[in-house]
Amino acid sequence: MYYVKSVDWDQLISDYPPPPLYQDTVGKMSETQIRDLQNRRFLKRVEEAWQVPFYRSLWQEAGLQLSDISCLEDAPRLPMFTTDDLRRAALDRPPFGSHHAFGRDDIPGMPLKMHTSGGTTGMPRMTLFDPVALEVQGIQTARQLYAQGARQGDVLQITYTLSLANAGWCGYLAAHHWLGCMPLTTGAGNVTNSERQLEFAKAVGTNAWFSNPDYLGRLVRVAEDRSFDLHSLPTKFLSTFLGHDPDGKMRRALEEAWNAPLFDNYGSHEVGLVAWECKAGHLHINEDTVHVQICDEAGRPLEDGQFGTAVVTSLHRTTPHFVRYNIRDRLAIYPHTRCACGISSRTLSPMQGRIDQMVKIRGNNVYPTSCKAAINRDPRTNGEYLCVVQYLGEGIGRSLEMTVRVERRNTDIDAQALRQSLEKDLHKDLGLRVEVEIVDPGTLLPFTGEGEKIKRVLDLRNKH
Ligand SMILES: [Zn+2]
Repeated sequence: MYYVKSVDWDQLISDYPPPPLYQDTVGKMSETQIRDLQNRRFLKRVEEAWQVPFYRSLWQEAGLQLSDISCLEDAPRLPMFTTDDLRRAALDRPPFGSHHAFGRDDIPGMPLKMHTSGGTTGMPRMTLFDPVALEVQGIQTARQLYAQGARQGDVLQITYTLSLANAGWCGYLAAHHWLGCMPLTTGAGNVTNSERQLEFAKAVGTNAWFSNPDYLGRLVRVAEDRSFDLHSLPTKFLSTFLGHDPDGKMRRALEEAWNAPLFDNYGSHEVGLVAWECKAGHLHINEDTVHVQICDEAGRPLEDGQFGTAVVTSLHRTTPHFVRYNIRDRLAIYPHTRCACGISSRTLSPMQGRIDQMVKIRGNNVYPTSCKAAINRDPRTNGEYLCVVQYLGEGIGRSLEMTVRVERRNTDIDAQALRQSLEKDLHKDLGLRVEVEIVDPGTLLPFTGEGEKIKRVLDLRNKH
């Protein structure tokens, strides 16, 4: 089976138009047109998924029959599921899981690729991609990069490693297959060290970056230490997954350091790039490929503009299907509008955080990553930090506490003064007091790592 023959390319382009075709087709559909398209694809995916053991039992247990689902409005009747259910599905039918229509022993005659979730503990979840699933995530990302300014002949430096995780591949496919940009797949800092990343950027003329915000920050510090002038690079834009940045300070700090606009995006390992930020500052949803509903904990849809958990249905995926998957990311959705950038779609809020990563400290909901803004804006730190979450005390006096370990930029910096001012800033940003511990440069690297996702939380809740 030749891969190039496994895809009807004209059909793919017409079904899921890449840019600039997207701008003249799906990107300017009316609300009714896009709703009709979503409705058709949704019903098709549900009908197919009835044949898959995972969905059949989930839906039958809820007392449903296929005929109960006759339009998109019926979606909330289908029970949602989470990563916990996918983990159980993997145990039911190892290694890929019973949400796939086939297993290791009956792989059908089509080219397949496997990617995994960025799990922090244990074996990551495995997801198979057929050619359409693989190419569409490239098209989704091509729409993102095109809207942010990528054009033929640009060089896109991708600091997500082309590994089992798919972010790097999304950038690679977008640039190489759909944009005529040259992907410079340097990978993360543990693949190409940060100094060499900058040397490549300079030598090749990188003018766009697809990178996580922590790593963009690390490159800023490496550049400063090596007297490398980031402003000497022809950077047009930075494309990243910024996430929670309530006061926009992280964004502004990176934009100033790189002298280029930064764009936020939102996606998931399973359904690909859900939404991308345009030059007018809106996060447009790839509505022909994914249906997003913001729900309460019971799976009931919330009003537009209200924050809740994101429940998604992939409209293009059949290997495997994802129907009413509760990603547990906290988001809000806004109505269909025609944006100043020319695209008409529903839009998303920036991601407020992964609900699973929220920690309840003295009655307050805290996302540990919310610490990064205060730490990054203090020049006495080098931006490296680690939130240690643990129980202190015993019995009735036991409380969950968070200590933030922060690296000072060098050992000449007064640790005591830095600790006091960071504790004050973090109190303001987080709305509660946390303890700060100042450590020397390089101390946290064994915990945070230099990989795909830099770890910022050390959860000791289950340790004694
Ligand atoms: Zn826009």
